Amino acid sequence: MIKNVSNQCPVCSHKGIHIRSLSQKNIITELEDYFAEKPPEKIEIIDYKIKQCKNCSLEYAFPLEAGSESFYQWVTTRPGYYPESRWEWLAVIRGNK
Ligand SMILES: [Zn+2]
Repeated sequence: MIKNVSNQCPVCSHKGIHIRSLSQKNIITELEDYFAEKPPEKIEIIDYKIKQCKNCSLEYAFPLEAGSESFYQWVTTRPGYYPESRWEWLAVIRGNK
């Protein structure tokens, strides 16, 4: 995987500015609130910063790094992670007829 460690916008490559921090502790608290269950301590979550591109206004995580394997092993087994229905599925089905 290519990591964005240069603080450049992934869309236009201009410099981003720091707009807020997204700490590991904050992410765990948000997950616990959302799933009504404390995530296991063994899952690996890193601290992120949220940056905004000065050119195109895109907001992106920094480092631009996917969640860990242990995180996805846990979160994909939570009820509600995968929706049973989404509005766009019906739109696609109608569009293909
Ligand atoms: Zn940009």
